[in-house]
Amino acid sequence: MPDPAPGDRPRPSRLTVLAGPTAVGKGTVSADVRARYPQVWVSVSATTRPPRPGEVDGVHYRFVDDATFDQMIADGGLLEWAVVHGRYRYGTPREPVRKALAKGRPALLEIDLQGARQVRRTMPDALFVFLAPPSWEELVRRLVGRGTEDPEERERRLATARVELAAESEFDVTVVNDDVHRATDELISHMGLQPVPVAPG
Ligand code: 5GP
Repeated sequence: MPDPAPGDRPRPSRLTVLAGPTAVGKGTVSADVRARYPQVWVSVSATTRPPRPGEVDGVHYRFVDDATFDQMIADGGLLEWAVVHGRYRYGTPREPVRKALAKGRPALLEIDLQGARQVRRTMPDALFVFLAPPSWEELVRRLVGRGTEDPEERERRLATARVELAAESEFDVTVVNDDVHRATDELISHMGLQPVPVAPG
């Protein structure tokens, strides 16, 4: 679909879903949104993955065990959830999203493609944004450069990324992550908000 026309901007309290291939920088862009656009509410996902060094429970993720995640599913407490990279489960707690939207806050979910498809079924009015790498070579470089995964895990993630890149046409708009602040500002303007340029230096 084409970008929304200026007169047809989404309401600021709309839900926006940011998805895209692994290592494209979704986490970096959502962190930039958190840092520079505090008026945007950014969802904190639950996951069964153990924390990486520096990750804080309740800030980057809500780190839970399998039994707790099972209970969240059983209670209908997740808006969507998925097994990502064939290993750990990740999901969006439903109630905080509802509350943020009810308060009129623009809300952002940074999730994988499977999760985005589930949200499209249950909340079709959301805005679906695909974050794309400048090129496949750049995506591989970023994945290897991050160095947080062993070779087997890296191969698994690349295989997922190949499938995820092919899904771009399912999204309302594509934002190319050639520069984090620029990509964030483009996302922000798609959300119907006014981007604020980063001060030089
Ligand atoms: P990581 O383990 O590197 O933090 O994240 C792995 C992947 O899980 C990323 O592609 C990220 O977008 C995805 N992810 C994070 N939170 C959620 C969530 O709540 N739901 C879904 N479906 N995917 C998520």
